[in-house]
Amino acid sequence: MTGTETDDTVRMAELTWQEFEDRIDDGPAFVPIGSTEQHGPHLPLSVDTVIASEIAERTAREAGGMVAPPLHYGYKSQPGSGGGPEFASTTSVHGDTLRRQVGDIVADLSRDGVREFVIVNGHFENEYAVREAIDRHLESGLDGRFVIASWWDLLSTSTREAIFENVPGGFPGWEAEHAGVVETSLMLYLRPDSVNEDAIVDDGPSRNPPYSMKPAPEDTIPHSGVFYKATHATAEVGERGLAEVVEVLANGIEDEWGA
Ligand code: ZN
Ligand code: MN
Repeated sequence: MTGTETDDTVRMAELTWQEFEDRIDDGPAFVPIGSTEQHGPHLPLSVDTVIASEIAERTAREAGGMVAPPLHYGYKSQPGSGGGPEFASTTSVHGDTLRRQVGDIVADLSRDGVREFVIVNGHFENEYAVREAIDRHLESGLDGRFVIASWWDLLSTSTREAIFENVPGGFPGWEAEHAGVVETSLMLYLRPDSVNEDAIVDDGPSRNPPYSMKPAPEDTIPHSGVFYKATHATAEVGERGLAEVVEVLANGIEDEWGA
């Protein structure tokens, strides 16, 4: 098996079914889960999916394994973390839909013989629907072991503090970092051509009450769709953050499941 174009790919979708079968025991199946969601005037709707997919592919190249095609739709964007459904373009699925889709994919791969799964999440609101999908998979009697990671949780406190050291106001919490410093930095590093740098703004809600409201009052959602200080984003921050996230995830897989 030398010289074929698919020797080096970690993308499951680029393999033949025989190549897939040959690789089942070589490492975990990564499942990236993103969203189709507004990310301000400077970033494409695909940000959460691009970041989750890139982390999954880079980690698979370090730790082994294959990356299943990403999920491009996520659980409903919320007013306080992504702006919610009022923004044109944000296209979401119900929690039950996401839970079933993740559950179906994992169950089918599991029937093929995949035993280890790494769910890489790129969209804040997806977390609990994904965890419930895995809970139900295990409750149904199907086997498998799972690492479930939202990428922002993999960034160390020291790196996070360094990134926000010179940002007035400091770190606002991940729910409020939507289209802000780190997502913009990751996209400047990963997809510079898709970032409209002239359109980058610092923004945020006029007020941020410690509870949520539905319908959400207009002054709790920034009109630009940017929730924080995106002008502080750099490709260097993106490169550094991505490297750490991939290293921590690859090391975690090795620690948990390595021989
Ligand atoms: Zn995002
Ligand atoms: Mn999101």
